[in-house]
Order: sequence, then C-alpha cells, then structure tokens
Amino acid sequence: MAEKIIMKTPLVEMDGDEMTRIIWKMIKDILIYPYIDLKSEYYDLGLEHRNATKDQVTIDSAEATKRLGVAVKCATITPNAARVKEYNLDEMWKSPNGTIRAILDGTVFRKPILVNGITPYIPTWTKPITIARHAYGDIYKNTELKAEKGSKAEIVITDKDGKETRALIHDFKNSDGIVQGVHNLDSSIGSFARACFNYALDAKEDLWFASKDTISKTYDHRFKDIFAEIYEREYKAKFEEAGIEYFYTLIDDVVARVIRSEGGFIWACKNYDGDVMSDMLATAFGSLGLMTSVLVSPDGVYEYEAAHGTVTRHYYNYLKGEKTSTNPIATIFAWSGALRKRGELDGIAELCSFADKLEKASVQTMEDGIMDKNLAAMSKLPEKRVVDTETFLKEIAVRLDVLITE
Ligand code: NAP
Ligand code: MG
Repeated sequence: MAEKIIMKTPLVEMDGDEMTRIIWKMIKDILIYPYIDLKSEYYDLGLEHRNATKDQVTIDSAEATKRLGVAVKCATITPNAARVKEYNLDEMWKSPNGTIRAILDGTVFRKPILVNGITPYIPTWTKPITIARHAYGDIYKNTELKAEKGSKAEIVITDKDGKETRALIHDFKNSDGIVQGVHNLDSSIGSFARACFNYALDAKEDLWFASKDTISKTYDHRFKDIFAEIYEREYKAKFEEAGIEYFYTLIDDVVARVIRSEGGFIWACKNYDGDVMSDMLATAFGSLGLMTSVLVSPDGVYEYEAAHGTVTRHYYNYLKGEKTSTNPIATIFAWSGALRKRGELDGIAELCSFADKLEKASVQTMEDGIMDKNLAAMSKLPEKRVVDTETFLKEIAVRLDVLITE
C-alpha cells in the first residue's frame, strides 16, 4: 500500500443523522482513512448533540468553516413536531442548513452526477446542469393579508426622517381579495451574484441568470441591474480570460433554452424559481442519490454535502437489523469535493488527484452495474447487481485501488 496523503489545513467535518450518519462512518473507514492521513475539525451536528449544546455546535461549525475555508457536511434532521417527541428535544431547533447558510451568507449550488445507464428524461442533456438558488427573501419572507371588498391596499415606505412614500396596490371596490408584500436586499442580491460568478469561474462554465424584468420593472429589474453592474466591474475581464460567458434573459425564455440545451452551464435562479426548478432538474436527471450540493460564500468559503436528506425510512429498517441498500454516492462526492478544494487551496496535488480517482471509481462501480435498489430500478444496463451499502463502498474501494496503483 502506498504512503498516506498528508494534509496541511484541516477540513471542517460536520457529522449528521440517521442513515447518512451510518454511511458517513463507513465512507471514512473504507474510502478515506486507508488513503489519507485525515486532518479534520470534527463537529457533531447529530440531533442529540445539537440539543445538548442548545444548537451552539451548529454555529461553531459554521464559524470554523469561515476560519478554515472548507467543510464537508452529513445530512441532518430538521426537527418538526414529531422529531421533538422522538428525540425528546428542548426546542424545535432550526434547520442546520439554514443556520449555516445565514452565517456564511452562502448560495447553494446543486449538480447532478451523470452515469452511463441512467438516462436523463431529456435525452439531449449530456452534461450536468448546475442550479443555484438565491435563498433569501421574496415570497419566503413575505407579509400577506386578506382584503375585504370596499377596502384599499397601498404600499407605504417610511424613510429614516419619517417621510412616507405611498403607492396604490389595488382598490378592492368590487370583490374581496388578497395582498402580499415582499422584499429583497441589494446586499443579498450582490452576495448571490458574486457567489455565482465565482462558481462559474471555478467550474469554467457559462452562467445563466433570468428574472421577469419586463413585467416587474423595479423589483426584478433590480436583480438584473445588480448582476450586470457587478459583472461589468468585477468579473467581465476574468470571464473573457476564462473563455466563459455571462448570459441574462427572461425566465420563460431561459426555461425553453434549458430544455433544448445539452447542459454544461450554471443556472442562477431567484428564490422561487430555484425552489421549483431544482426539484424539476433533480427529477429530470434521475435520482436524489446522485445529486450533489455545495454552499459557496461570496468570499470563497465552501461547504460540500449531498442534496438528499438522512434517508429516514432506510434507517428505521437498519435499526431493525436489516441490511439496507442506500446510495452513498452523493455523500462520497461531498468528501471528494471538499478534499479537492482543500488540495487546491493548500497546493497538494495528490489530494486533488485522489478526489478525481475517488469520483471516477464511484462512477465506474455504477457503470459496472453495481448499485443500490432505487438506482437499479432506473438503470438501463442489462446486467445489474443490487448491493447493500457496505458492499457498494467495498466495490468502489476495489476500483479505487486499481486507479491509484495505475
Ligand atoms: P430523504 O432523506 O432525501 O429521503 C427521501 C427518499 O428518497 C428516501 O426514503 C429514499 O426513497 C430516497 N433516497 C434519498 N436519498 C437516497 C439515497 N442516498 N439512496 C437511496 N435512496 C435515497 O428525504 P426525507 O425522507 O424527506 O427526509 C428525511 C430527513 O432528512 C428529514 O428529517 C429532513 O429534515 C432531513 N433532510 C435533510 C437535508 C439536509 O441535511 N441537507 C435535506 C433534506 C432533508 P425510498 O424510501 O423509496 O427508498
Ligand atoms: Mg422545492
């Protein structure tokens, strides 16, 4: 066996819950520790420990990520009423992803892993489409009211000196109705734009952005203008040098172009568009088990994870002693993504090369027909072998060993 790869700066490691917590340990034991002298700052974001620390551990892990620059995160439970009971929680703690995203002021990029034998619903999509969702404001931070017939709705802005600016929304003369107030922030839109431009430069792929500025001449137009101003001032030269493009169009036009495309670009979306379109893309590309996710802050801090959750149903089967067939690929790619980024930042070529080989071995395993039950149901390969998670990982290790000794 070759010497283990030595790291310089530690990774921030955020452990999680349920089935993905089990897989987390297996990945480290089978695919990481044998090859890398892993340096990590470990934070246990498992729900029990979040509760024990009053969620301080989540904040600490985000602060550590800011300090060290790269994190890898396991899926975590976002508690609801049922979880409060199940885990006997002191409080319904907030979504860790939401907390981390707010502290890092980050944007989430989701990218599917393409595998021969798993065909996207759109056959022309031969390259991945990465989607970025602006995760602040709009209808997700709205104020809504019902309006009775005979009433009048207005927008009022009171400035710092108390001066009011009013605009009529609607005069409800003839019918009851509904009203909604939404907002966004120049600072948040700017952070989103920078995260997207940086990611595009990193990936060397074109960036597409769209809104409905023809209809929304102040609100959506502000998004278009902020993107354009930041692009011109800070990124145009870098994009030209990298040979990539920034492209703005209307949201309905972009949907048509995405469907007709061959993939291979980044699609930046306003909050609602991203909510809807990321589910559309995940489904159209095939499987949640093959969807990766990375949170990127405007100042270039990266947190890698799988897009799927903790796979609760499989975990309950696991607790009953059954062997489960859960797909570890997206979680492996979270590790490879984080290790590669660490390697790039610290100038450790072997770490980047290991990440490449780990991803290659993972894809090869599935293309050899070895996969989990859900993927097998979708695969068009003639010969398939459904395996449990541990066997899946060991098959990847076999192929990884070949690639490493080549
Ligand atoms: P989920 O964990 O993504 O699982 C939903 C279903 O998708 C599974 O039951 C399974 O289908 C399939 N699936 C997902 N990942 C898979 C994989 N790797 N391999 C094979 N099948 C996979 O979503 P959920 O059940 O709605 O949520 C469970 C918990 O995860 C919740 O507590 C939620 O708060 C949390 N969550 C966390 C994150 C995060 O940390 N980023 C994201 C989403 C949800 P079958 O049952 O049909 O096999
Ligand atoms: Mg959604």
